[in-house]
Amino acid sequence: MTEIKANIEILKQAQELDWTVYHSGQRLIEIPQERDRLKQTLESEKSHLKQLQDHLTTLQLKQKEKELELGEKEAHIKKLDGQLAQVKTNKEYSAMQQEVASLKADNSVLEEEIIRIMDEVEAAQEEVKKESDRLKEREKHYQSQEVELASKEKKLNEEIENLLKGREEILQRVDPEIRGKYEIVVKKKEGVALAKVLNETCSACQMRLRPQLLNEIILAADLVACENCYRFLYIDK
Ligand SMILES: [Zn+2]
Repeated sequence: MTEIKANIEILKQAQELDWTVYHSGQRLIEIPQERDRLKQTLESEKSHLKQLQDHLTTLQLKQKEKELELGEKEAHIKKLDGQLAQVKTNKEYSAMQQEVASLKADNSVLEEEIIRIMDEVEAAQEEVKKESDRLKEREKHYQSQEVELASKEKKLNEEIENLLKGREEILQRVDPEIRGKYEIVVKKKEGVALAKVLNETCSACQMRLRPQLLNEIILAADLVACENCYRFLYIDK
């Protein structure tokens, strides 16, 4: 076995760990994104509840306004009723009576309006209650998912740390120059720096290899990189 071949055998062990390091790293990157997504969903549900609450408040204010208006008009009617007895002329009397009748007509419209608004208030209150119950459930769910993500993150970090320790031990046995080349490629090529030759083809990028290159790989006097994907090629006998 040439020295290159011996080094490649060791690199193959490191490669297995590096592949997992890369993929665990990718999963780790996704965690904050997942956390943001959860947070955004919860925020939008909160703002939906806020809208419903605002709508309810507006309706309640409207109801109060109408009730106040009704109260004022009723007081006015009472006052006019009291004054009717003291009116001197017929003309004045009938004018006042007309005013009372018109106020009473206004009030019956107002009463209907108030009843309608009360129905709307009741419906809005139910909606707010339903939505805020739902939000409480969602918050619980969100918190449990947060806990789950944190533990996943911790586990991945520990896993990566262990793998990095393992690869370091393995790579210490590799020729420093060869290791240097390996490190560059493994970083650039998504955790895969070695490619097996299968049917005279690079198994990583499917590029058909030139006969000259195949010869060099067999001779193994030096590291041979795929001319397409730059991964180091090896042949398993
Ligand atoms: Zn290739």
